[in-house]
Amino acid sequence: MGMMLIKEKEYKDFSWDFRRKANHKPLVAHFELTYRCILHCRHCYSECYNNNRASRRELSTKKQKQLLDKCKAGNVLWLCFTGGDPLFRKDFAEIYAYAKNSGFVITVFSSLAGLDRELFRMFCEHPPFKIETTLNSSDAGLYHKITKTNLFERHIDAIKKLINAGIYVRVKTLITKQNLHQVERIKELVESLGAVFTPSAMVYAQLNGNKDNTALRLHPQDMLMITKKYGHLSKLRAQAGERKTTLKDLTGRIRGKKVLSCAAGIDTFWITARGRMIVCCDIRKPDYDLLKSGNSVEEGFYSLNRTLRSWRFKTDSLCGKCKYRRICSWCPGRAFIETGNSEEPVGYFCELTKRLVKDQEENKSRI
Ligand code: SF4
Ligand code: SF4
Ligand code: SF4
Repeated sequence: MGMMLIKEKEYKDFSWDFRRKANHKPLVAHFELTYRCILHCRHCYSECYNNNRASRRELSTKKQKQLLDKCKAGNVLWLCFTGGDPLFRKDFAEIYAYAKNSGFVITVFSSLAGLDRELFRMFCEHPPFKIETTLNSSDAGLYHKITKTNLFERHIDAIKKLINAGIYVRVKTLITKQNLHQVERIKELVESLGAVFTPSAMVYAQLNGNKDNTALRLHPQDMLMITKKYGHLSKLRAQAGERKTTLKDLTGRIRGKKVLSCAAGIDTFWITARGRMIVCCDIRKPDYDLLKSGNSVEEGFYSLNRTLRSWRFKTDSLCGKCKYRRICSWCPGRAFIETGNSEEPVGYFCELTKRLVKDQEENKSRI
């Protein structure tokens, strides 16, 4: 039987529809295969584990395969190999082939710095559903400043080669103080490569709570400009169309004392480089030992979800009663990483929200 091709838009509709109807089943697994990466971006939230000590504690190939078997037994459909950079595991090709043979739909997040001839050939012969890579500069000088490497040309070549080979490459851009002045040039470069410019601008603190990287966050005024021009506000505006969503539509206190008000745990979970299952990459506890004999994806997913969904504010948290929570970047995971307390407001997020509200009120603008 010939291969049936499905258009990207149709696939997107199909997958969203499928996921919506599946209703709270573990369908998507993000494997943090390694935290290693030869780039050392200052903004990186996993840079704190990009060292030998953390590498030594990573799982063996055999254990990664056991985890993949458990995902298959749990009817997981979509896999995302992430990190760090998963291509820097010496056994990446073996793990990828095993996952491919198990029938998963695979996405790979990578800097592409580790894309050698063998891996390229493998991707051509057994294509992933998608490769996502982050390009934060439009020239070698800034690339070096951001990543501390001279791999700009190599990165561009790798993107070109993959696209030319017919592989779907999503090129993302993180806008920070380091590259704000180059945004338009990066956009031109990304588009000249045949990809869609996909920017975001939030730098998240490192997983161990180190906040040095947050110094790279945009000034709130610049953040507002970027969000309106390229970010989620521009997307909301496009989606709202005739309906024209107003700020009022998006504000109002969230009822009850529920701490989680996002999509965490709806159908997605993470597996850390040490084999622990979590339902949000920023909420590292509680976790579940997926490798333990007898433990399963379903049991872990539902028990972690039960715990997180029954989470209620214990203090008189400002965020708990804040009417802007739905438009704020605050969430308990990020709050914990940044302040050590899951109920505490995060100053920068508060500032951004205030600016947005003020801007909308002053300009009587619609989102
Ligand atoms: S390329 Fe990605 S994983 Fe590597 S250091 Fe930069 S942000 Fe981190
Ligand atoms: S990071 Fe925050 S907003 Fe995102 S899924 Fe986790 S808890 Fe929800
Ligand atoms: S961080 Fe500030 S604006 Fe955001 S939800 Fe908490 S109190 Fe509200």
